Amino acid sequence: MKQVTHSRKFFMPSSLQNHHSMQLPAKADALIKWRSMDDVKNTLSSDKFKADSPYLILGEGSNVVFLNDFPGTVILNQLKGCEVIEKTNDHVILDVAAGQSWHELVMRCNEWTYSGIENLALIPGTVGAAPVQNIGAYGTEFSNVCESVSVISCQTGEVSVLSNAECEFGYRSSCFKQDKWKDYVIVSVRLRLRCQNHQWNLSYEPLKKALLAYRSDQLTGDLISQAVIAIRQSRLPDPKALPNAGSFFKNPVISDERLAELLKEDSSLPHYPQPNGEKLSAAYLIQACGLKGQSDNGVGTFSKHALVVVHHGDADGQVFWHFIQKIRQSVQKRFGMSLELEVRCYDQGNLVSPSCATDWYFA
Ligand code: FAD
Ligand code: NAP
Repeated sequence: MKQVTHSRKFFMPSSLQNHHSMQLPAKADALIKWRSMDDVKNTLSSDKFKADSPYLILGEGSNVVFLNDFPGTVILNQLKGCEVIEKTNDHVILDVAAGQSWHELVMRCNEWTYSGIENLALIPGTVGAAPVQNIGAYGTEFSNVCESVSVISCQTGEVSVLSNAECEFGYRSSCFKQDKWKDYVIVSVRLRLRCQNHQWNLSYEPLKKALLAYRSDQLTGDLISQAVIAIRQSRLPDPKALPNAGSFFKNPVISDERLAELLKEDSSLPHYPQPNGEKLSAAYLIQACGLKGQSDNGVGTFSKHALVVVHHGDADGQVFWHFIQKIRQSVQKRFGMSLELEVRCYDQGNLVSPSCATDWYFA
């Protein structure tokens, strides 16, 4: 009896529509949930899993778009738990299971007065996905607090621990986006947070402005998170009300020379210095192309934020992709710049290259 249930889990095609926040119609051959490390081990040792390919680990699907059916197994990571590993007057190290909600963790840390992730409030998704794109907002990145990341190999079942340096964090990137680590699943992360001598980061103008009424000794993690939440709610659509996957493209980084040329045409172009050049706002570029709030056949950009692609309902992957290409082509034509995908798009089980270098889909 038990075996029959198990094999049904692997064979039943399941809708993915409610498992990615863009909510395009798509199915997986099978959908399974990992709620404990026993579930993980059972899956990895199952002959059916070993024989099947491909497979994909998913948190809340807030940075993933399924453009069509996924021919394989989708695993929902629902591993829970949070443990204090070390605590001094100065700092705390937390070990957090990968399936915990990131935002809930931020709010808990505020309650416990552990600081370091308060600027990252209201980012949807799981703790286990945070290292993958090194989530960031308002001048803080996951890498700023990451002590280590534990992964399990889906080939051997072996668990390894990667230090912060080994994760090779960069701007919205990490080693977990590299091919070498594609068969590893993050099972937990360790965070190093401050218990005192808090170092609030108000480098982003809207956040600084929202907290102007407070002296620095009056600030708390909770106050900062509440300000971040208010700003985000005023600008970003709630994916449950209007399907979206946050910022669809990365902010491009260009050379100083190229920036100088662009500033001659538009002196108000926002730009921010980076170690490898100047970062532009992709939202500004898309807006300048007249695409803010535009939509075609149920896919568009959000009326208050041009970088957020929204699905008004009833679109499919092909219509969706058409709109993505329209944005990319408009920015290319106007600014001579190729926008890279930040969101991870899957076409028949394959990750679409962020540079969209192929003629995929309309070839
Ligand atoms: P998923 O979308 O399920 O997965 C993302 C990728 O990580 C997939 O490739 C998946 O295979 C892989 N993955 C997931 N879990 C694991 C695991 N345990 N082990 C290995 N690989 C794994 N991002 C930011 O950086 N900053 C923001 O401010 C921000 N704001 C957002 C606002 C909105 C409204 C939305 C919808 C999204 C936003 N995002 C932001 C993007 C997204 O929330 C983050 O990337 C988040 O970390 C994704 O978490 P998830 O659990 O939904 O991951
Ligand atoms: P914004 O304030 O309109 O600014 C536009 C862009 O300019 C941002 O993307 C940001 O880059 C950059 N920027 C602004 N001030 C900066 C500064 N002081 N130093 C360096 N760069 C600066 O941004 P927004 O779109 O409302 O987003 C606010 C924050 O939330 C940003 O950090 C953004 O990344 C994050 N966010 C991310 C997502 C996502 O899905 N990834 C979705 C919504 C919001 P950075 O993006 O590099 O910070």
